[in-house]
Amino acid sequence: MPKENIRDKGNGTAKPAVNGRAYPITEHVYDVIVVGAGGSGLRATLGCAEAGLKTACITKVFPTRSHTVAAQGGIAAAIGNMGHDDWQWHMYDTVKGADWLGDQDAIEYMCRHANEAVYELDHYGVPFSRTEDGRIYQRPFGGMTTEFGEGPPAQRTCAAADRTGHAILHTLYGQSLRHSAQFFIEYFAIDLIMDQDGACGGVVALCLEDGTLHRFRAKKTIVATGGYGRAYFTCTGAHTQTGDGNAMVLRAGLPLQDMEFVQFHPTGVYGAGMLITEGSRGEGGYLTNANGERFMERYAPHAKDLASRDVVSRSMTIEIREGRGVGPEKDHIYLHLDHLDPKILHERLPGITETAKVFAAVDLRREPIPVLPTVHYTMGGIPTNYHGEAYTLKDGNPDTIVPGLLSIGEAACVSVHGANRLGSNSLTDLVVFGRAAGLRCGETVERGRALPPLAKDADEFALSRLDRIRHAKGGTPTAALRLQMQKAMQNYCAVFRTGEVLEQGVAKITDIWKGSDDLSVSDRSLIWNSDLVETLEYENLIVQAATTVVSAANRQESRGAHAREDYKERDDVNWMKHTLAWADLETHSVRIDYRPVHTYTMTNEVKYIEPKRREY
Ligand SMILES: Cc1cc2nc3c(=O)[nH]c(=O)nc-3n(C[C@H](O)[C@H](O)[C@H](O)COP(=O)(O)OP(=O)(O)OC[C@H]3O[C@@H](n4cnc5c(N)ncnc54)[C@H](O)[C@@H]3O)c2cc1C
Repeated sequence: MPKENIRDKGNGTAKPAVNGRAYPITEHVYDVIVVGAGGSGLRATLGCAEAGLKTACITKVFPTRSHTVAAQGGIAAAIGNMGHDDWQWHMYDTVKGADWLGDQDAIEYMCRHANEAVYELDHYGVPFSRTEDGRIYQRPFGGMTTEFGEGPPAQRTCAAADRTGHAILHTLYGQSLRHSAQFFIEYFAIDLIMDQDGACGGVVALCLEDGTLHRFRAKKTIVATGGYGRAYFTCTGAHTQTGDGNAMVLRAGLPLQDMEFVQFHPTGVYGAGMLITEGSRGEGGYLTNANGERFMERYAPHAKDLASRDVVSRSMTIEIREGRGVGPEKDHIYLHLDHLDPKILHERLPGITETAKVFAAVDLRREPIPVLPTVHYTMGGIPTNYHGEAYTLKDGNPDTIVPGLLSIGEAACVSVHGANRLGSNSLTDLVVFGRAAGLRCGETVERGRALPPLAKDADEFALSRLDRIRHAKGGTPTAALRLQMQKAMQNYCAVFRTGEVLEQGVAKITDIWKGSDDLSVSDRSLIWNSDLVETLEYENLIVQAATTVVSAANRQESRGAHAREDYKERDDVNWMKHTLAWADLETHSVRIDYRPVHTYTMTNEVKYIEPKRREY
């Protein structure tokens, strides 16, 4: 489709000026604006368009290049094609995987609706792998069990070979176009438009291709901008994973939730960081140390290599620390797939066969793959309810809804993953809550209502930030600050943490954050200016790095992905609560408060699952 056909030209242009420089801005008006075209953003765009709402989706990369395209292993839903399964077992596993920090009403919502969300994908055209009798193929994944944790591993993860995200993204993009959603492709959202009453009225965005500025006004703005793994040095995520929406929310004076919980995937390719899916262990792969020992049998006698990700990552780190790592520097671990039938590798894991060859120079039919725990997923984000509506703390109520603002996907913290996400539950989260947000907008948007007039200076916040960065004349290039930040996060806020190291991390990150005042940007143009865009992204990352490390230093317990060596136990009496973190841009500091965990379910059909010790 030619680009002109999918772009509305807008309602006319205003000419605000910042520091004497004019920034002509074109206004567009919609019922709903979705920022982000990953799995969650596309599912919401489709839902809103289907509900007859005038919907636009803004994305900084072409929709099918969003990080969701890289999701390999699959999407969890208890459809029971490979043995008896039950959504309540899925719910139990998710609550336990989350180490009792997840909101159980939201977890019930996700697991209850996962089956229909997957069937919907199937009907939309996702080419799932099939069983002999033609049903959707499902593989085992870490932490997914039967009989409320008492039974054997569940085969619950629906897969399209090892390219599930790719299949989902292409299908959802096609379906969104079919329902005439408008796409603004390669538009970079800079900041939210917030009014005096704290309601969100849209976003300001820069068209990367021609440097024009655009004001998108809407009754609802859905932030679906993905995670912020790029705050770390090695990560399995795309370079675009800079959590832009999270940072916009912080700049709007709103909190982010549970930022201390960062997931390390056990099997990133050593040195390169590319992911080898957990589905590889689901298909029978296993880990060994320098002695050739299958060490996971010691740490998780029951689930072994398919224990939850935090457990496997920690076990690998301990093996390496105690001198049993492999390789000349004894600093990584081997993943074996060489015992598997080459036919299975070819049919079910073709993508990682190629990844191993290209990035590790390994023929996985004959040799093990060198792997290392690598940053993979950020559990924290914008707090929401299970309709996707954003929460803030106001007048003592931490569940106050921010009018006009929703969030879904990895950007959001709904919170179904709590302190640790189970593999294949993110894709479920994307489509279930993307769908939920679409339904909510369908119910709540008043179709005929005109938008209230905007304050004169509504765009000023976004434009003055853009202007400041564009004309930054300091002494430090963005790339230098970004590298310092990524190394500091990698070294001071990693798999194992102590108070002392985290405090050093807080000091380092704060210094780097202050260093932003000395940024230098050399290219002043607005057209395809990667220097400018990378600086906007860096500014987004540094506030999230700060909230992450401060939240981690603050939480004095071990839970899920947050493993404190000075507080080894989970402490439900004092810490079964969500962290809320605000960033003060003037003083470069982070303020912390809390939100109670929802210790109740959505319906009476299931009971609240009481906390117990988490063992695999
Ligand atoms: C290698 C890899 C494999 C994975 N495998 C699995 C798996 O098998 N199963 C599973 O459940 N999970 C998996 N995950 C996790 C899961 O894929 C992600 O959590 C999920 O895809 C995130 O989707 P999303 O919709 O939140 O955002 P993303 O897919 O990350 O998309 C973000 C979107 O936001 C847009 N955007 C961001 N900033 C801006 C801005 N400033 N302006 C405009 N647009 C913006 C981008 O253009 C993009 O369209 C995997 C993750 C990785 C990295």
